[in-house]
Amino acid sequence: MLTVDEAASWLLSRADAVTETETVSLLEACGRVLAVPVVATLDVPPHDNSAMDGYALRVADFGQPLPVSQRIPAGHVPDALQPGSVARIFTGAPIPAGADAVVMQEQCEVLEDGRVAIQKAPVGGQNIRRAGEDIANGQTVLATGQRLSTADIGLLASLGIAEVTVVRPLRVAVFFTGDELVEPGLPLGPGQIYNSNRYWLVPALMQLGCEVSDLGIIPDELQATREALRDAADFADVIMTCGGVSVGEEDHVKAAVEAEGALDLWKIAIKPGKPLASGKVGGADFIGLPGNPVSGFVTFAVLVKAFLQRRAGVADAAGATTVRYPAAFDWTRPDAKRVEFLRVRRVVRDGQTVLERYPNQGSGVLTSCAWADGLVRLAPGQAVAAGDLVDFIALEF
Ligand code: AMP
Ligand code: MG
Repeated sequence: MLTVDEAASWLLSRADAVTETETVSLLEACGRVLAVPVVATLDVPPHDNSAMDGYALRVADFGQPLPVSQRIPAGHVPDALQPGSVARIFTGAPIPAGADAVVMQEQCEVLEDGRVAIQKAPVGGQNIRRAGEDIANGQTVLATGQRLSTADIGLLASLGIAEVTVVRPLRVAVFFTGDELVEPGLPLGPGQIYNSNRYWLVPALMQLGCEVSDLGIIPDELQATREALRDAADFADVIMTCGGVSVGEEDHVKAAVEAEGALDLWKIAIKPGKPLASGKVGGADFIGLPGNPVSGFVTFAVLVKAFLQRRAGVADAAGATTVRYPAAFDWTRPDAKRVEFLRVRRVVRDGQTVLERYPNQGSGVLTSCAWADGLVRLAPGQAVAAGDLVDFIALEF
């Protein structure tokens, strides 16, 4: 048996990032992974500008009321400031040469003769946003392997960049094994259950930015499973399956992967979710999640997600980060050999964030995952009493 950490680093060490790139326009770039660093070719802001609606002046001229020598709206080019005067200026407008402060209009009084009386002594540089104070020309703004957020896209636009070179999406083929499975929307026959795994896994993959090929339900037959693997391998960088990875007579995924490729990894000391299969089929990586929805969900969260992110070119896909919170629950019968992941939720009690546990931690109880906002990671043999600090991993898909 591999430990969870061994399995995680084993998977990450085999995650070869996609190297092919494509160029996309900014509005298509959110969530994509940068393939080249972005270096600023201008200052942002490009010129010193006013942070306020008010009056630009030379601090040395402060004292007597001053005449207004020009008006500078945003987007207009000012003249140099005439000595002994102020310039009416608006937020974002360029600072005229010679001015070294802006006084907000609330601190100014316009006299009947049109001159402006400034009520408070200005300080040099006040209310001036300096050229390059956000980004300096030549600065590396975003690094290779960064997944672009909405704010990143705004930043790129502020640099005048219209398109970016990104890693092409990771192609993931999925299928779901089990003669008992039926798609939602169809009537449920005797002995059947709905294919719930498809409906958290496919969106989770899409949220990670994967291009998903969904082959649907494959019956519990060796030939059908082998054919599905071959079809999947034609398209995919990674093939993912759910179910059929135990060693029961109706579990054909293991044998099918061995026949079509190679299977590398078998049992992991994780609860829920012991069987996780990993291997190769043709040029594609193979990941076989356990069929129990909770086992699959937890395994995906703590092991597979980081593998897929790194495979998709994300540079800092280091796996789940843990934060410590006090438990508001007891856990008296820990698993002696396996790392255990409990479905929990953060709640604020008496001003403090504590963790509540879903009552039924069974590996078939998907309600626990829907209810939870995270997992508590327990070491083998680790019992919990209310008040103990425990490791929490947020669920972000
Ligand atoms: P298996 O790994 O195929 O033995 O499946 C383990 C358990 O998970 C069984 O109770 C299956 O019915 C259930 N299961 C397998 N695949 C799915 C799925 N796609 N959706 C919901 N339950 C599933
Ligand atoms: Mg099955």
